[in-house]
Amino acid sequence: MEPLNWVSAGNLLERSTGVGETKQASLAEQENREVIVVGGSAAGLFTAAKLARGGRAVRVLDSKPELDPAPRSLIVTHHFRNLLGPAAAASVKNEIRRFELFTDGRSAQIALRDPDLIIERARLIPALAEDARQHGAQFSYDTRFLSLGPNARALRLEVESGGQKEELHADQVIGADGATSRVARTAGWPPVETVPLVQAIVKLPADCPPDTTRVWFVPDDTPYFYWLIPENENRGALGIIGEGSGQETKKRIEQFLEKKGMTALEWQGARIPVYRKWIPVRRRIGNGEVFLVGDAAAQVKVSTVGGIVTGFRGAQGVADALLAGTRSTELRELRRELGTHWLIRRALHYFQQRDYSQLVDLLNDSTRESLGEINRDESTKLLWNVIRRQPRLVLLGLRGLLMGKRAQ
Ligand SMILES: Cc1cc2nc3c(=O)[nH]c(=O)nc-3n(C[C@H](O)[C@H](O)[C@H](O)COP(=O)(O)OP(=O)(O)OC[C@H]3O[C@@H](n4cnc5c(N)ncnc54)[C@H](O)[C@@H]3O)c2cc1C
Repeated sequence: MEPLNWVSAGNLLERSTGVGETKQASLAEQENREVIVVGGSAAGLFTAAKLARGGRAVRVLDSKPELDPAPRSLIVTHHFRNLLGPAAAASVKNEIRRFELFTDGRSAQIALRDPDLIIERARLIPALAEDARQHGAQFSYDTRFLSLGPNARALRLEVESGGQKEELHADQVIGADGATSRVARTAGWPPVETVPLVQAIVKLPADCPPDTTRVWFVPDDTPYFYWLIPENENRGALGIIGEGSGQETKKRIEQFLEKKGMTALEWQGARIPVYRKWIPVRRRIGNGEVFLVGDAAAQVKVSTVGGIVTGFRGAQGVADALLAGTRSTELRELRRELGTHWLIRRALHYFQQRDYSQLVDLLNDSTRESLGEINRDESTKLLWNVIRRQPRLVLLGLRGLLMGKRAQ
């Protein structure tokens, strides 16, 4: 396997190799240096809170005028609770205990041993911000990051704050500014590919239990899938990931809603990153360092396009490395995880209707148990368990991969 293209937090480790005292001195030095986090959403705030907790001076910049996140329901695995601890409780508003998969008149059910959680983003973001603030992080809203470059000590940032251009200085900058990250662009990372995600908030159909997520595979409409995630017993979010333009994707979902007899109460949408290969999360610019976390580093599970938990894990990895000055195992594990999701997506991406029908038929009892038993954030384990119990799925997956090769 290719080594992580990332060694340590700055020259900290290089200077300390084999010399414990030098490392201690460097860590003490580090503590007084400011880290600027660009982007005060899930991944940025999680990183800021971890760094502030670890004693680093942290400033979070966000282009939004204030901390006022729009309400949005998100589905996450229960790993969310492990990462956030007791703070997670405030954002959880529903639990999902079952998945129902549909394709071409067939269906299969998968019961989850550990329920997925439906969380409210408008509660999560303020809770993360409060945690960071309590540990000393400073916040600058209405502050748009424009560019960065080296200065004598480390990094110089150009920002626009309240209509005025300003210069800021930092030793490390964390780009947590989403899929179209300007930090990534100005620091020289190549752009990340994105796909449109469109969601309609709908009245929950009477036959859909509030603890069950529905998934429809309709390969003529999308190589991904449609989903219906209940927010509570009355409302749910019906969504699609498309390819091409957001408008085409919206048209597809409108037709799907009509077929299902549902009406959109409101619309949500954005372009989200597609993970294709690991993006090294650190770059050195002059004497400074720039890191990427969350959507800015495409830390999104490409099989299901969930980015909250994986973005937290990327943030945790960067914070661990900055605080301890050592290579982070979290990033190595995240890389393996995202790679497995990419393999699954590549196998599914060229599936036709008959392949999905076969997939649902093959999901016999033991395989379904496997899927439900293991957290989707441990996808490598999940994949092996499924394959062990239903080897014919390997052939189906290989066929998908071969179809993908032919289509390229
Ligand atoms: C409709 C929708 C539904 C989704 N559903 C789910 C789901 O159910 N489960 C799941 O796990 N994931 C879901 N996702 C994906 C998830 O929301 C993202 O992966 C996650 O929000 C990424 O967080 P982030 O902090 O990396 O980036 P973002 O949330 O994109 O935050 C970027 C921040 O940077 C700020 N910013 C941007 N540019 C600048 C600049 N130049 N200067 C200063 N600040 C800047 C922005 O204002 C913003 O606050 C969904 C996404 C969408 C769009």
